[in-house]
Formats: sequence, structure tokens, C-alpha cells
Amino acid sequence: MMRTDVLVAGSGPTGLTLACHLARQGFTVRVVERRSDPHRESRGKGLRARSLEIFEELGVARPLVSTGTTGIVLRKYFDGAHVNDTPTPADAGLLIGQWQIEEALRDRLGALGVHVEYGAELAGIAQDGDGVRAELTGGRVIPARYLAGCDGGRSTTRRLLGIPFEGTGEREPAMVIGDVRAPGLGRGVWHQWFTSEGGGVLLCPMPGTDTFQLQAAPEQDEHGEPLPPSLESFQRIFDRCAGVPGIRLEDPTWLSSWRVNVRMATRLREGRVLLAGDAAHVHPIAGGLGMNTGIEDAAALGRALAAALTGPDADAPLAAYEAERLAVAAGVLADTAERYERVVAAVRTPGRGTEAGLD
Ligand SMILES: Cc1cc2nc3c(=O)[nH]c(=O)nc-3n(C[C@H](O)[C@H](O)[C@H](O)COP(=O)(O)OP(=O)(O)OC[C@H]3O[C@@H](n4cnc5c(N)ncnc54)[C@H](O)[C@@H]3O)c2cc1C
Repeated sequence: MMRTDVLVAGSGPTGLTLACHLARQGFTVRVVERRSDPHRESRGKGLRARSLEIFEELGVARPLVSTGTTGIVLRKYFDGAHVNDTPTPADAGLLIGQWQIEEALRDRLGALGVHVEYGAELAGIAQDGDGVRAELTGGRVIPARYLAGCDGGRSTTRRLLGIPFEGTGEREPAMVIGDVRAPGLGRGVWHQWFTSEGGGVLLCPMPGTDTFQLQAAPEQDEHGEPLPPSLESFQRIFDRCAGVPGIRLEDPTWLSSWRVNVRMATRLREGRVLLAGDAAHVHPIAGGLGMNTGIEDAAALGRALAAALTGPDADAPLAAYEAERLAVAAGVLADTAERYERVVAAVRTPGRGTEAGLD
């Protein structure tokens, strides 16, 4: 079997950006993905300037810029009353759903002759000085010169390498989140309802769709335990916090919970295997830096692997990648934890909202 230059595990924004970067330079790349199909979840929805620059270089930016929007107005309500409208701070970037970003990257990758291999789950890694043998569930083996673990916060690659993921994590979800339709609700602003009791619900119109991304504090049962996300629970939260009569939420295409985790890998490299994106660091979403940091990791790793594959010294660029991106991750962890605290405190004041994470 012909040996591929780089095998990428995971087809999120990090893995796809890395694969585009390498394929564009003529390296042979394969991308294995555990899921059976692409998802359609809005998740990370703000593409920052540096990510857009990277996408310009890769030839991915155009469809995103034509669909996404900038400068959406944040409409703040408190205890049901409209308080103010404020512009999104400029560094929030382009509003666009994560699934649309992944779709644009997959389209570009396809044009470069690389197609994501779905239903292909990395399950084992063996390596020597010459290359890596990646074993998939079911026993198939893919030989490669390097393996990039871009397989998310619960990274199999990181676990197989035995790399600690140090930091803190909360057991209970801080937020429920999902994509829903809300016929009758205006789509020109990002609605942010907060209450003096401490709850809140946010509905952000997602460009290029008829859905809103909903974020809310979870409901609790009679024992104070958070209830799992559901359309019924979303509607009760909406009715309690927004109190807009006649709006029925419908067609949930994504329902999820989010927990505060502030963790990073102690190393990004073990021989010929490297980590990037959420596999390397996870942190609060305030400020919208998770996906963007992964895209920047991918561009840096693309450069490092290109140098390792063609240059006289394979070790130096990979060591430099690790040092550079570990320092960035440490900074982002501290920064986003602080941004998150700022948002949590700010929304108790009428007229304040998610912009507090971008100040
Ligand atoms: C609820 C929620 C809201 C968020 N909001 C924001 C936001 O507003 N702004 C922002 O910037 N970020 C946000 N994020 C974070 C953002 O979604 C992540 O930072 C981003 O998805 C990380 O990209 P990634 O490619 O590193 O990992 P992922 O997107 O997690 O992709 C990893 C991929 O690897 C695959 N995989 C896993 N294990 C294996 C295996 N063994 N073999 C093969 N494939 C495997 C997974 O199926 C997945 O497709 C949010 C995340 C969540 C969950």
C-alpha cells in the first residue's frame, strides 16, 4: 500500500484546514473521520480575521464571506423589557455556522482530490523512526509518514499517546445549546434575554439558514439537577425569560449541553504524531476562540509538517510547532477563562450581553 505523507484523524475545522494546507502543497493526505456523515450543527459561529486570512490563502474564504454576516446588532432585554441595541465588537469576525465552514473546507479539499473517509475511527498507533501505522476500528491499517490527531476534546490520539490533559472541568453543564426555528421572531438582530433571577436565553439568527442558534442556562428539576436539552425545555426557558407571546420554537436540528472545561495537553508531540485543535486545548467559548485557535494551530502545523517532509532537519520545525502552539494555548486558556467570568458577571446588569466577552 502506498504510504501517505500525513494521515489526519478528525474532520472538524482543525483537521480539514490542515488537510487543505498540505494537499494544496502537493503532499499526499488522508482524512479519517469516526462519524458516518458530516454534521449540520452551528457550534463555533464566529470566524475571526486571522482565520479568514488563512482561508483566503487556502481558497476557502469566498463562499463563507458571501453567506456569512458581519456587525450583527446585539439586542438586549432584561426581565422581558427591551433595554438597548449594541453593535457586535469588530473583532467578533464573520458570523457563520461551523457546519458551513466545514462544508467549504471539504469542498476545497475535494477539489484538491482528497475526500474525507467517514466511518473510519482511529483506534491504535504504532510508530518507529521511519513512519506511523494507524490502526482503525475493524483492524484496517493505514501507513503514513506522520499522523495528526485533530480528533477533538476527547482525542483518541492523545489518549493513545498517554499525554495528560491538565486543568479543570465542571461536572454539570453551564449551558444548553441547539439549532431551532422560531417563526415570527425577527432575524435582523441577535436576541439576548436575561433576567434578574439569573437565567437567560439567546437566539442568534444563523446566516444562510432559517434557524437560530439557541443558548440558555439549563432548566433544573425539583432536586436542582440540570435537565437535558429538549425542544420542550427550550420552549419553557424561552417563555420564562423572553415572554414573547406566540413564538413557538420548532424543528430542532441540534440539541446539546456545554460544560466549562479549561484544559490543555502537556505535550503536542510524540515522535511522528502531533496534536492540534481541541485535542490539544479546550476552554470556555466566551470570545469565540475555540475553533479559531484550532484553525491557527492547523496552519502552523501545516507549515511545520511541510518543512519536516521536505527539509534537511525534520525535528526542528516540529519542535518549534510544539513550543509555539503550547504557549498560545496557555494564553488562550487564561484569556477565555477570564472572558467567561466577565460575561457571567456582566449579564446581571441590564443592557449587557455577550459583548462583555469581547471587550
Ligand atoms: C456547544 C458548543 C459551542 C461552541 N461555540 C463556539 C463558539 O462560539 N466559537 C468557537 O470558536 N468555538 C466554539 N465551540 C468550540 C468549537 O466547536 C471547537 O473548538 C471546534 O469544533 C474544534 O475543532 P476541532 O476540529 O479541533 O475538533 P472537533 O470539531 O471536535 O472535530 C473533531 C473530529 O474528530 C472526530 N473524531 C473523534 N475521535 C475520532 C477518532 N478516534 N477517529 C477519527 N475521527 C475522530 C470527531 O467525530 C470530529 O468530527 C463550541 C463547541 C461546542 C460543543
